[in-house]
Amino acid sequence: MREFVPSKVFYEKAIFDYSFGNRLFEKYSKLGCEMIEIEGHHNIPMLREQPYSKFGKMKSYLILGTRKTIKLTPNNLSADYIVPFTSSGCSAMCLYCYLVCNFFNCSYLRIFVNREDMINAVIKQTFKLGKHAVYELGCNSDMVLENSLTGNLKWAIEKFAHIQNATATFATKFHMVDDLLDCKHNGHTQMRISVNPEIIIKRIELGTSDLISRIEAANKMFNAGYRIGLNIAPIILIENWKQHYIELFKLLHIKLNKDLQKNLFIEIIFMTYGYANISINKEAFPNSYSFFNKDLMQPKGRGKMQYKPEIRNEAEAFLRKLVKNYFPDAEISYVV
Ligand code: SF4
Repeated sequence: MREFVPSKVFYEKAIFDYSFGNRLFEKYSKLGCEMIEIEGHHNIPMLREQPYSKFGKMKSYLILGTRKTIKLTPNNLSADYIVPFTSSGCSAMCLYCYLVCNFFNCSYLRIFVNREDMINAVIKQTFKLGKHAVYELGCNSDMVLENSLTGNLKWAIEKFAHIQNATATFATKFHMVDDLLDCKHNGHTQMRISVNPEIIIKRIELGTSDLISRIEAANKMFNAGYRIGLNIAPIILIENWKQHYIELFKLLHIKLNKDLQKNLFIEIIFMTYGYANISINKEAFPNSYSFFNKDLMQPKGRGKMQYKPEIRNEAEAFLRKLVKNYFPDAEISYVV
């Protein structure tokens, strides 16, 4: 996969207060990107007003800014706290992407250059807690993808290595981990590799790494001493879904490092689908694969849908059985 080179870069003036911001500005200027100054990353009128049909084009843009508010949010799934970290949004185009529900057309990749502020927030929280906690770095973005542009994940892993009582965690749908293999992580970082049947990756997770590359990335990271989990997400009940997930588990069983299989933890997350996804997909990807079956779903809060309980329960039981059969030593961390 080639490095993402944006077609346009929108930047806040405040990035020049940070040497990292200056470096990124210089990098993209040299690459010949069109550089456009903006007031603030959260409100770019010329982009907000674009029709949904321009969604794909807008995903080729990059925004450089600073994070003004860094408030850690308690979490009880993948981590103890979610850290608003160095990026938000993404250049890929998964057709169910949860970020679309918050940012609509503006779910392009934003990079925040004040990374010291974010790591300092983690240090402060760890000190205040006085006990071990896990910090999620990639809740609103994909840190492996971002790292391929900025080196920020490598930087963060090496920072966490020196923070007592803190573990960093992130999930990824990308395979570009070579840069992370020689990091001195001190066992303070774990990675969850996101997997799905290849048909879902190819037709729905547009612009992400293929399944085999993701599995190889998990093996490489395990060999480099990282704790590795499987993030089976999102579960999408497409036609013949049972057969597709059986094939996925068979492949994982064959290809994942055998020692890793003995130490694996697994997260299972069912798809939620937003009305924003429906509107954008209809205009931006009119000929895309049809994976949304409204008869299987019911409303979930404002603007979203989830699988009906009876359908979800059947699928959960099926997936738990697959885990038991193929990875008897694995621990299921949670199912949502
Ligand atoms: S990789 Fe993650 S953040 Fe990027 S489009 Fe897909 S779901 Fe959204």
